[in-house]
Amino acid sequence: NPIVAVVGRPNVGKSTLFNRIAGERISIVEDTPGVTRDRIYAHAEWLGKHFSMIDTGGIEISDQPLLTQIRQQAEVAIDEADVIIFVVDVENGVTDADEQVARILYRSNKPVVLAVNKVDNPERRSDVYDYYSLGLGEPYAVSSVHGIGMGDLLDAVIKEFPENAANDEDDSIHFSFIGRPNVGKSSLVNAILGENRVIVSNVAGTTRDAINTQFETADGQKFTMVDTAGIRKKGKIYENTERYSLMRSMRAIDDSDVVLVVLNAEEGIRELDKHIAGYAHEAGCGVIIVVNKWDTLKEKDHRTMTDFTNLIRQEFQYLSYAPIVFVSAKTKQRLNQLPGLIEEVYQHHRQRIQSAVLNDVLMDAIAANPTPTQNGRRLRVYYGTQVATEPPTFVIFVNDPELMHFSYERYLENQIRKAFDFSGTPIHLIKRQR
Ligand code: GDP
Repeated sequence: NPIVAVVGRPNVGKSTLFNRIAGERISIVEDTPGVTRDRIYAHAEWLGKHFSMIDTGGIEISDQPLLTQIRQQAEVAIDEADVIIFVVDVENGVTDADEQVARILYRSNKPVVLAVNKVDNPERRSDVYDYYSLGLGEPYAVSSVHGIGMGDLLDAVIKEFPENAANDEDDSIHFSFIGRPNVGKSSLVNAILGENRVIVSNVAGTTRDAINTQFETADGQKFTMVDTAGIRKKGKIYENTERYSLMRSMRAIDDSDVVLVVLNAEEGIRELDKHIAGYAHEAGCGVIIVVNKWDTLKEKDHRTMTDFTNLIRQEFQYLSYAPIVFVSAKTKQRLNQLPGLIEEVYQHHRQRIQSAVLNDVLMDAIAANPTPTQNGRRLRVYYGTQVATEPPTFVIFVNDPELMHFSYERYLENQIRKAFDFSGTPIHLIKRQR
């Protein structure tokens, strides 16, 4: 998806605008316990064009003075986005900070759409013309609170989207390493590329500046490592902030079939790890958990691995389907297992089950463990069918969806997982009344 970044001083109404554009899509369908909601990244759509939005104001960058922070936000936007929405507040007039940010944006040559916010009534319309002085072209008058002017603004935004950057012929498996700073993502990227035949290292990604790397394993399977540029080029102040790593992870998840959530064996599991993993799960892509820096644990016995596995299973309960690999980017231990595992998870993610076979499994499951009753009414399961892949999605037709207790739904999911190998991929069950 193209990326649209929202930039501007505090209180100009960035978040309101952000939420207004993202609308319903900001709420995430599945409720995963332990995952806090975050509003710095959201999916949106206008006239059938899908895009991802970043609220750079949500990326806290240290305790720098305000102006420095805003300037850094603008830099994040320039680095990350295809189009930037620069939000100013008509109530303040053109401020010094607006002018400074405008200069940075102007020099970047990125497409910028200028949104003059809080134009809630016609009297304020005439003030909008002052903003031509910023040199960013036509100022769009909007009121985020009242939803005024959104159509024209979004028309201007989607007009700037790169055309067909993605390669349709591409049949390689897209994957990415995600995780908090210093878990070893760059080291893993370099180690994997060192062990395989790199075909092209600057494949255009779906976004203007993403640089993906394509490589081939000895058995001829092609892979695309998503957004390796962003991981390898480092050194910006904001790269080590939590919000930024979250945002980067979200972007990578967007473009991947399979994501590898990297944990650091040396430091154990942190809150941010769970946050990132939660997003991967909710996005519905294939997930592999990679425990890196395994070389740092001294005096390993077989229990160390079992203990760590148990800890992961406990902390990431919603990822019970994800395989776990213990590796070291430093010693290259078990790195050669990763391509094969990614390929396997990718196949499971795209797997399609024939209805007849699926229904045999469902009927056996029901025979072995009768459906629940509620107030004297019994759940009846008529049949199921797979309606989608990536991730595999099943519709189960029943007499009354309310009667499908959560635990029974989980039982059915487990029976499906026992019958077919879906390791590494979430599966979705949708209950429908017949
Ligand atoms: P990123 O921020 O997730 O990309 O992490 P880096 O790849 O930059 O790694 C952070 C630090 O951990 C660097 O100093 C690496 O040399 C070190 N590191 C990465 N992988 C390993 C590993 O497997 N074992 C050890 N001992 N150190 C590692």
